[in-house]
Amino acid sequence: MALGAAGLVSSCAASRGFSDGLMHDLGRRPDQRPRLAPVRVSPERIIRIDVGLRPFRPSGFRVAREELGDKTLVHNYGHGGGGITLSWGTAKLAVDLGYDASKPDCAVLGCGAVGLATARLLQERGARVRIYAKDLPPNTTSNVAGAQWWPASTFDRDRVTPEFIAQHFEAAQFAFRRYQSLVGDAYGVGWETNYSLSNRPNSSYPASEDDPMRALVVNQRDLTPLEHNFARPFVRRFDTMMIETPLYLRRMELDVRQHGAEIVVREFADVSQVSALPERTIFNCTGLGAGRLFGDTEIMPVRGQLAILLPQPEVDYNVIAREGYMFGRRDGIVLGGTFERGEWSLEHDPADIAGIMEGHRSIFAAMT
Ligand SMILES: Cc1cc2nc3c(=O)[nH]c(=O)nc-3n(C[C@H](O)[C@H](O)[C@H](O)COP(=O)(O)OP(=O)(O)OC[C@H]3O[C@@H](n4cnc5c(N)ncnc54)[C@H](O)[C@@H]3O)c2cc1C
Repeated sequence: MALGAAGLVSSCAASRGFSDGLMHDLGRRPDQRPRLAPVRVSPERIIRIDVGLRPFRPSGFRVAREELGDKTLVHNYGHGGGGITLSWGTAKLAVDLGYDASKPDCAVLGCGAVGLATARLLQERGARVRIYAKDLPPNTTSNVAGAQWWPASTFDRDRVTPEFIAQHFEAAQFAFRRYQSLVGDAYGVGWETNYSLSNRPNSSYPASEDDPMRALVVNQRDLTPLEHNFARPFVRRFDTMMIETPLYLRRMELDVRQHGAEIVVREFADVSQVSALPERTIFNCTGLGAGRLFGDTEIMPVRGQLAILLPQPEVDYNVIAREGYMFGRRDGIVLGGTFERGEWSLEHDPADIAGIMEGHRSIFAAMT
């Protein structure tokens, strides 16, 4: 990390306020603030534009079991903006709910992060797995994700039950642990420091003190102005894992194949085609596709548009601000921040991309 530097400021200087402490202190001695390298935001540095549709359900992801004739159907979809994060966790809930070791042949519908994690956990229980999917990586929504390990925008607070919140936490906890076992270059999973920038004191992001998810926030601290070089009065630091989705999904696909899974490219038009499958137990991990396939009218797209810039190896941190978010990934700098409910188009809007670029340009140009 470019910043690891609480120790660079004296406890005396750190305890002063912004106007008094910073100006007075910098007048006396060379500025010793840790300096993060700014992102170079310019249209010439864009390597691609990505658009993805988050599979969002206001009441949260659906893990549920139903009988389909003589088959068992287990749903596992609707993770909104947190499907990479939660994938291992809801896969565990789904497998616990539906796997019967006396019927080891299982079908998994979908080959995004959720389908792949479900397939791997089934294999670990001894299942023989066949994955059916219309699109494989790199052509899934999961490939587009940022992806910060944090379940952001996964439900509407006023639509969820306490039981769901407990289930959400259980899934997050399992996934948090599982991803830690994948840290390293092989899966493209690593720890990174996040900076949340604000004009007001930060109390609820990434989690408020009374939220169970607070237990999964690592190394959180509100920085003094002497501990960063952003031009914002309030900066909260915390660490999360990051998942480099193109590499991670490629590796997961290889893993399931090496453990004996067959992958069949196939699109299902309706439930009758699903119930005609030879497998007795079927896991539905079709993300947004579950709406049409299984008649879920609650699920909706939340469109996200991203501008990806040339990699800058010195930018190994993330920024979250009102203007959007920046993830400093090894394969490119991800600039995002749009959440458009009900928007189905996979075409980007040039005005939105210009807005994302301008918002980030202003953040990084103001760094001292
Ligand atoms: C811009 C953006 C940023 C994001 N950032 C993050 C982040 O930082 N962290 C995070 O955790 N999450 C993030 N997400 C959310 C995350 O991408 C999704 O929650 C996740 O990808 C959902 O995974 P999935 O496997 O359910 O769906 P998908 O990846 O969409 O996979 C669905 C699979 O089902 C198949 N399928 C669908 N319908 C059918 C059908 N009828 N027949 C056959 N196959 C079918 C598809 O072909 C595909 O293989 C982001 C999303 C976007 C768009």
